[in-house]
Amino acid sequence: MPQGDEPTGRRLVKVTGIVQGVGFRPFVYNLALGLNLSGHVFNHSAGVDIEVEGTQDSLARFETDLTRLAPPLAHIISVTSAVIPPTGDKGFRITESDSGGAKTALIAPDSDVCEDCLRELFDPVDRRHRYPFINCTNCGPRFTIVEAIPYDRPNTTMASFVMCADCRAEYENPADRRFHAQPIACPVCGPKVTLLDSAFNPVEATDAVRGAARLLSEGAILAIKGIGGYHLACDAENEEAVLKLRARKRRDEKPFAVMTPDIETLRLFAEVNEREAAILQSRPHPITLVKKLQPDALGPCAPSNRYLGAMLPYSPLHHLLFDGKPYNALVMTSANLSDEPIVYTEDEAKEKLAGIADYFLIHNRPIHNKADDSIEKVMSHGPVVIRRSRGYTPVPIQLDREYPPTLAVGAELKNAFCLIKGDKAYLSAHMGDLKYESALESFRFGVSRLMEILDISNPAVVAHDMHPNYLSTAFAEEFPCERKVAVQHHHAHLVSLMAERHHTGQAIGVVFDGTGYGLDGTIWGGEFLVGDAAGFERHGTITPIPLIGGDAAIKEPYRIALGILFGMYGENLPPLPIEWLNNMEPARLALLRQAYYKKINVFYSSGMGRLFDAVSALIGVRPKASFEGQSAMELEMAVANGYHGEYPFIIGGDVNPANLDFTPTFERIVEEMKNGERAPVIAARFHETVAQSATAMVKRISGTTGLKDVFLSGGVFQNTVLSDRLGTLLETDGFAVFRHGRVPPNDGGVALGQAVIAARTLV
Ligand code: ZN
Ligand code: ZN
Ligand code: FE
Repeated sequence: MPQGDEPTGRRLVKVTGIVQGVGFRPFVYNLALGLNLSGHVFNHSAGVDIEVEGTQDSLARFETDLTRLAPPLAHIISVTSAVIPPTGDKGFRITESDSGGAKTALIAPDSDVCEDCLRELFDPVDRRHRYPFINCTNCGPRFTIVEAIPYDRPNTTMASFVMCADCRAEYENPADRRFHAQPIACPVCGPKVTLLDSAFNPVEATDAVRGAARLLSEGAILAIKGIGGYHLACDAENEEAVLKLRARKRRDEKPFAVMTPDIETLRLFAEVNEREAAILQSRPHPITLVKKLQPDALGPCAPSNRYLGAMLPYSPLHHLLFDGKPYNALVMTSANLSDEPIVYTEDEAKEKLAGIADYFLIHNRPIHNKADDSIEKVMSHGPVVIRRSRGYTPVPIQLDREYPPTLAVGAELKNAFCLIKGDKAYLSAHMGDLKYESALESFRFGVSRLMEILDISNPAVVAHDMHPNYLSTAFAEEFPCERKVAVQHHHAHLVSLMAERHHTGQAIGVVFDGTGYGLDGTIWGGEFLVGDAAGFERHGTITPIPLIGGDAAIKEPYRIALGILFGMYGENLPPLPIEWLNNMEPARLALLRQAYYKKINVFYSSGMGRLFDAVSALIGVRPKASFEGQSAMELEMAVANGYHGEYPFIIGGDVNPANLDFTPTFERIVEEMKNGERAPVIAARFHETVAQSATAMVKRISGTTGLKDVFLSGGVFQNTVLSDRLGTLLETDGFAVFRHGRVPPNDGGVALGQAVIAARTLV
């Protein structure tokens, strides 16, 4: 190494973050060679360690370029550098991984196929022409194939595939894009796709993918094994096929996600603005909610919904399925029965999808960690992750300090759990609705797998919801750990957002949610809290409304509306212009009236989500829902453009919590209905009323506490109209408003708050 008389030195550089499986070592190798530095680099259970020796100038350049030029999938959290004695070694080497020490290295999330691989995929002379598993150090599966850290091939589900000579040569060539690409594969040595019929017998086809595309274009339903699990697919423009899939999947109205080959094709069906286009094309390639051009665009894919859940092809297999554009759009919905977890193994596929899929397009690269497609929605303050899974897990949330290992089991619907290790919180992929036995099983499995991957043998504390009947609570109670912490649901929502926004001091939390167990054993969900991870006080809440029939009211919100009407008019209702009420069998009405007055199975809830459900039912938008939250969602979609005024409300009570009472709102709504006001205008005024009343409540709380930071969390903040309007009103009044981004506002984010609150009790 010609270095003249310049003084040389040697440094030990330690890099942490997502630096394994993203081409970091080859990048370091090339950087060092270019600067004439000697030494070596190796993967370490805590990240990547580098020793470099050379001139001081080159060493300084090396450290700047290390972060400045890092590869696209790398996510550097820290770089530390120490001077060590020079050894006079020659050349630069990539050495064996060291698997000892504390396992804290971060695993990269799965990434969409890169431009370079895509070009090779469609290049007829490339040796990976049309090979569905093409990948490189800049792209491909990661978390879903990892079994342990450090991230090396033997610790992935690629371990059983022996590299051919060509792949081995690329893998070992530091100048190659596939240098140390752990999932490297080719048609000679790698995984293969197979097309099977409904009985799992092979179908004759020279090219399984072409065969599958032809079947799809002819109207068949296919189960397709992907990156994080199976999809059920059919031609989204073929109404008969979509309706057949709905019937077989027992899913009446819940929207199906669709995949189009590109943004231009998606624009045949929906408006896609710049910010949405950026999210659709981002590395995680999430399902993104975009506004339909016509209400009936792609008809039965998303009935009575103004939005379409759309995504673009992200795996090489998807690109091949769209080759030649045999269809404009495919339904690509998670393969499961109703709300059960996504199917991800061949055995499960055979057992559970046999009655649904006409054909199966499977492959033999095992999925170790399942992950649904993530879902995002662009709001005025930025994109919000509604379901956080593939492409995001296991990217951690950086915490304010180190904590003992903590497990938080989450809530029940849209469950996700969370593990804290050191100063990072790892929110799991979406687990689904834990009231299903299959979801609970996959939850148990998921917890032990993530603990294994993060090398956590024994959490110091286990956090769970206060709800005594949640299956996650039962799981926590049985978990072999001395210390358990029961966390109030809305406190957890508030702290999940504070953790996401790296906020520590006291703040005002507006938590608008469907259902959550309160400190007093009643159902909460329209909460104004003051607190932080150490504790909270309930400063305000909405006046509880009756749910006739308890949980039945979630899918039949007209029961809530009816309770409100009884409260307003007494048992003999006057003639009202409410269709569902006037069409109700007198006997049924009598039964519900009796239940209400005798308090038989009538629960009171301060859930804001239920209030939206009630208004949706009352004004006839959606009196009866086919899935939780549908009525509230359609009320948002019904909102007329522009400003239409608001309704009166009352804030009362001298002691905490103050009550926000919407009785005058309901009275005015019924009056307007009698005068023939249109539902979209009423929906707009109701949204405005909620935003104005919440602002008034926040101002009142700020007046007594002096706090100016306001956090908006809870599932109701998936409502763009409300989130945008309340944010604007609060900001106009001088408040700093914090809303969700990468952590879901719904119960998918609760575990993060639980974890931080429980971990806080230990430090
Ligand atoms: Zn690539
Ligand atoms: Zn090969
Ligand atoms: Fe919640």
